[in-house]
Amino acid sequence: MARGGQASQQNPTDWVTRAADDAIRHAEQTRAHRGDTDRLITCASGASPSGPIHLGNLREFLTVHFVAEEIRSRGIPVRHLHSWDDYDRFRKVPAGVDEAWNEHIGRPLSAVPDPWECHASWAEHFKAPLRAALAELGVEMEEVSQTEQYRAGTYRDQILTAVQRRGDIETVMSRYRTKAAPVAESEEEAESLADSVAIDDEPAGTGDDDLARFPYKPYCRDCGRDTTTVTSYDDETTDLAYTCRVCAFEGVTNLTTQHEGKLVWKVDWPMRWEFEGVDFEPGGVDHASPGSSYTVGKELVKDVYGGRAPSFVGYSFVGVAGMAKMSSSKGGVPTAADALKVLEAPILRWLYARRQPKQAFTVDFGPEVVRLYDEWDALGKKAANPAKRDAQVLAFERASATAAAGTLPTPAVVVPFRVLSSVADVTAGSAELISTTVTNVGHPHETVAELEPRLTKAMTWTSEFVPAEDRTTVRATADTERLAGLNEDEQLWLAQLLDRMPDELHLDEITTLVYGVPKLARGLGLDDAPTDQVKADQKAFFNLLYNLLVDADRGPRLPTLFVALGAEKVRSLLQA
Ligand SMILES: [Zn+2]
Repeated sequence: MARGGQASQQNPTDWVTRAADDAIRHAEQTRAHRGDTDRLITCASGASPSGPIHLGNLREFLTVHFVAEEIRSRGIPVRHLHSWDDYDRFRKVPAGVDEAWNEHIGRPLSAVPDPWECHASWAEHFKAPLRAALAELGVEMEEVSQTEQYRAGTYRDQILTAVQRRGDIETVMSRYRTKAAPVAESEEEAESLADSVAIDDEPAGTGDDDLARFPYKPYCRDCGRDTTTVTSYDDETTDLAYTCRVCAFEGVTNLTTQHEGKLVWKVDWPMRWEFEGVDFEPGGVDHASPGSSYTVGKELVKDVYGGRAPSFVGYSFVGVAGMAKMSSSKGGVPTAADALKVLEAPILRWLYARRQPKQAFTVDFGPEVVRLYDEWDALGKKAANPAKRDAQVLAFERASATAAAGTLPTPAVVVPFRVLSSVADVTAGSAELISTTVTNVGHPHETVAELEPRLTKAMTWTSEFVPAEDRTTVRATADTERLAGLNEDEQLWLAQLLDRMPDELHLDEITTLVYGVPKLARGLGLDDAPTDQVKADQKAFFNLLYNLLVDADRGPRLPTLFVALGAEKVRSLLQA
């Protein structure tokens, strides 16, 4: 039985293992039910490209990615299918965008022009940076545009079915509907019902109950908005008549031959589960509460389409901290691209892999970044030892590599992020200068490239994320006033330091000297253990050095600072 214990240690499990088990079980049951043995396992994500795709939304993509990777690693064919909900309505004009865009409210995101004029539409403008970030993160997915699907009539049969069965849909919906919880029309609306001011949440009734809750909403053929009220529907011809509340257009669209609208969100989601054969799909935890889109969808997919809801995990909020400097300049929420400026791709993946989806967590761009890198490097060392393979190491493995891309880029020579960032801070210089200094402070390497991608991220973090008051500013010239007012101890320390400091600085040597000068001044040798008096002197001496070198009471480790500055610069600042 002891062997059993060992086996479980060698094959640790985590939330990804369990979600993959559930997805595979779902697929097997569906295959058995349908006699469809070739059916590919589908893990689906979805997102509305209505604005910057922030780090909370990234959980949608990465949750699916990790589960699909786990299934793939078991030799089972699987696809990560991603739906862009770009046929959702444009809801509001965000701050910073020309008010003229109010004109586009109610139009599909794919039909709203790009205010920054760099992409074909509003939707494409926000898809593009996320695509680039996902590529860096090693996430490959099959993308589907809901605009293309709906416009091409791909869902025609499913739409006709939903419309035919609108009575049954309403029966389910009405069970969950309360005044306090209006039925959302999109995933995004479902997520933000709390601030749902003036959401055009359901087609306005015509007094006819059958049409008041019609599950399909046409976009106005004249003005392109979804501000339409269904006035009649003919089950025989499938002609749907509507009026537009904004432009007063009165039109007829045929649901069999014309494809000008979409199913309301709570019907659209289960329809696609069935159409795409989704076995696993996550969602924000609020999607799984009573009356939420998943609960309602679970019933609708069965009642209307005879299908089964995918296995589901609800994920929690991802918070952000340490962005004071960034958010003041950019005004927005940080995206995956922002995080990748600072974090190596595997580390960003790791933040999402190591926690159960239901756990909320915070991405901290402040000093915590340094600790995160240390933790990651320590885990990397542990992962190198097969005897230590546990759930933590499993998360490291999931974060580090993908089936298609293999191991994601990490530096050939691992230098602690704290060293790179503090050298970048002190030198405020080029990658070459930082590289040379890093070698001199005890991390030898041949080329700058061996430090990448970490070096660039450390440089970016230092310049873009560390607040000015935490940066090190090396004095341009000596502080003559301070130097003129030195007390006797201070004069002695500086004299001994300058006397003994070599022209070429090496970390060990300079460490011994900086710590040793107060010992010499008390008649001890450089290598003697410090007395309490010496310790107090060291504190005062270090304070003096920070004052004279960087005009502050603290800063990076002094030996590192000395080596980074070089003997000549140090001398110029320590004497008048
Ligand atoms: Zn109109």
